[in-house]
Amino acid sequence: VLLCDLDAFYASVEQRDNPEYRGKPLIVGGNPGSRGVVSTCSYEARAFGVRSAMPLATARRLCPGAVFVEPDMAKYQAVSGQFLEVLDRYTPDVEAVSIDEAYLEVRGPEGRGVEVARDLRAQVKRDLGITVSVGIAINKFLAKLAAKMAKPDGLREIDPKDAERFLEPLDVGVLPGIGERTGSKLRAMGIRRVGDLKGMPPSFFKTHFGSRGRAMMEFCRGVDQRELELGSDPKSMSEETTFSRDVADMNTLSSTLLGLAEALGYRLRSSGFMARTVTLKLRTEDFESTSRSKSLRSPTADDMLLYQAARDLLGAGTGTKRVRLTGIQVSNLVSRRDALHQGDLFEDSQASQRQEALLETMDHLRRRFGMQVIRRAGGRPHRR
Ligand SMILES: [Mg+2]
Repeated sequence: VLLCDLDAFYASVEQRDNPEYRGKPLIVGGNPGSRGVVSTCSYEARAFGVRSAMPLATARRLCPGAVFVEPDMAKYQAVSGQFLEVLDRYTPDVEAVSIDEAYLEVRGPEGRGVEVARDLRAQVKRDLGITVSVGIAINKFLAKLAAKMAKPDGLREIDPKDAERFLEPLDVGVLPGIGERTGSKLRAMGIRRVGDLKGMPPSFFKTHFGSRGRAMMEFCRGVDQRELELGSDPKSMSEETTFSRDVADMNTLSSTLLGLAEALGYRLRSSGFMARTVTLKLRTEDFESTSRSKSLRSPTADDMLLYQAARDLLGAGTGTKRVRLTGIQVSNLVSRRDALHQGDLFEDSQASQRQEALLETMDHLRRRFGMQVIRRAGGRPHRR
């Protein structure tokens, strides 16, 4: 199991995009005069004792020279999506734990884990322009611990043979499920290290951890039975817009559909899927809803093909009624990988190769600068 954790994620993205922040203590969280807390801070700020979740005012007191910036969650989400795409290249068995952390299960001969970790760290650095630390071990708990020790910009493996001895002298707080409160309770009883806790009888675990007692006993020995939680494939994706004022003209409807198709195409490509069915959803001013569907000749993740299908379905529109809401749903999804294997795609023509290269470039820019940075002429920006 590999745990990949982006280093000081939000701060790293800001330092990547704003060279003037590099090498400086940077605190992402907002105006230091506000009542907010630190979301992430750069390693330069950590040297002053600044930590995540600390009130911004405290952070300013510790590090008056720090640069404070507002978080740009849309941008971080986009970079996070790109991070998962890189991980997907190595194995389909990826569990995203949070915006900047994911477990990977890698099978293969001994040493394969380290090989993947090295390669993946280089890829992330090249594609995302920020660094990731990787912990390798036989289970989630130890992989996470290894990653923590590898930070920043490092790689560390815990050998299963050494795990138990390695854990003994560490603070009980390293164990999963032992937070601040339980940790201080244990320490107050004189149980400070993992080795101390390991020496307690089973009845002690039962009393203090209840149903988690058995797992906690195992953690003390470096055993962790938790499996990776792998998500199931999505069945459909949709995007829709409610107009601020009911719409009658076809031009507005068409350009709105183009914006929706772009957003959907981007989501499909980012998650490695293609759609076989396109559904147009309309709600008119009298709140009547209709949907019309169409199957495509071959699965696609191309904005323009999705748009054309939706536009065909719109046909002459809704007669005399004005439109209150319009949306596009794509369903019958197939992974791009499967579609390629099944020979379902007609990708050999030069035109479609050019088109794919164009989409790839657009997606790259969007990940880097946000969805709004680039759009097709005539499309209405679609914000989610
Ligand atoms: Mg992180």
